[in-house]
Amino acid sequence: MSDPLLNIPPERFSSLLKIGLRLTAERDLDRLLGTIIEETTSVMDADRSSLFLIDVERGEMWAKIAQGVEVVEIRFPVGVGVAGTVGRTGEIVNIPDAYADRRFNPEFDRKTGYRTKSILCAPLRNTCGEIIGAIQVLNKRAGTFGSEDETLLAALSSHAAVAIENADLYRRLSALNLSLERKVEERTKELSAANERLSALNRKLAEISITDALTKVYNRRYFTERLLQEVKRVSRYGPTVSLLMIDIDLFKKVNDTWGHQAGDTVLSGVAGLIKGRLRATDLIARYGGEEFCLLATGTDQAGAQVLAERVRALVQNAVFEHGGTAIAVTVSIGVSTWEPSLGEDPEELVRRADTALYRAKEQGRNRVCA
Ligand code: GH3
Ligand code: MG
Ligand code: MG
Repeated sequence: MSDPLLNIPPERFSSLLKIGLRLTAERDLDRLLGTIIEETTSVMDADRSSLFLIDVERGEMWAKIAQGVEVVEIRFPVGVGVAGTVGRTGEIVNIPDAYADRRFNPEFDRKTGYRTKSILCAPLRNTCGEIIGAIQVLNKRAGTFGSEDETLLAALSSHAAVAIENADLYRRLSALNLSLERKVEERTKELSAANERLSALNRKLAEISITDALTKVYNRRYFTERLLQEVKRVSRYGPTVSLLMIDIDLFKKVNDTWGHQAGDTVLSGVAGLIKGRLRATDLIARYGGEEFCLLATGTDQAGAQVLAERVRALVQNAVFEHGGTAIAVTVSIGVSTWEPSLGEDPEELVRRADTALYRAKEQGRNRVCA
């Protein structure tokens, strides 16, 4: 048996193909339904068409139909009326005289003020073969709908069903895509905020790890590291570097007289005072209990002595407040300066500064020795 589509006259067949192409291109469901109705009416040579979709959750069929100038949504249970019957059975229904057929519900005409004569209604099936709705054409312009019309409407409805399924899929995918994009954007923002917090925390941690907690100048570990780098650098590129070993005089007496807390205040005070007067290239660190080391980059012996003397005077002229008491202290400073014979050995530079400091103490404190 030959395919009934082959019996369709060429001009109707070509319209069918054109409609198929037009429907595939449409992704907006509302516009698509409009196009299907319009094209179907024209190619079926009918007076009007309606397209009903099944709302599976509610067991209803719905359609948007023109009522005068308004477009209204109508709903009825699957199984009711001609379209409802097709929605349930999936069989094409061809009725030459509506009022003589008990499947026709005259309520429709009463509501719309239309006079239905002939009806042709075909099911819409998705690619899985499930019935998703029905397409109904009313009042064939000449005579009643024949078998050629049935074949044509069946072909049209398969095109329409695929297009509807695509549009629905596209709509769902777009919504999904949008929500995914929003989620990604949200997560990216959260992640970058978390990253920023982490970086800030890391910076803080790095700072803490090289800082003395009480005096807020560098700690001994960092000083040792920098001293080594500095000695390596000057032994290659010169010119020189000096080291000031600064020790607070008779500090034990400060603790003994005003208490350990007062001692802490003085320690921080001395550190802050010196730090506030340094060049950007100089570095001060807490070396021990009440000892500080000052690394003066590019400073020779004479320059270091001038610097040391300035630091000594600075401390001598300062007073440190603690609990209403003004406490004054002095410092002794030992100075050493790198010279080529020391090579890359930082220990010797420290040892020399220490020896010089010892001499300063011996000679009566509050003084500088090189
Ligand atoms: P000198 O002039 O010979 O340096 O006498 P000094 O008393 O400063 O020297 P000594 O080394 O005998 O005493 C240092 C004192 O510094 C002893 C210790 O209790 C005190 N000290 C060390 N670290 C701290 C600290 O973090 N806070 C306080 N308050 N005191 C400290
Ligand atoms: Mg001391
Ligand atoms: Mg000491």
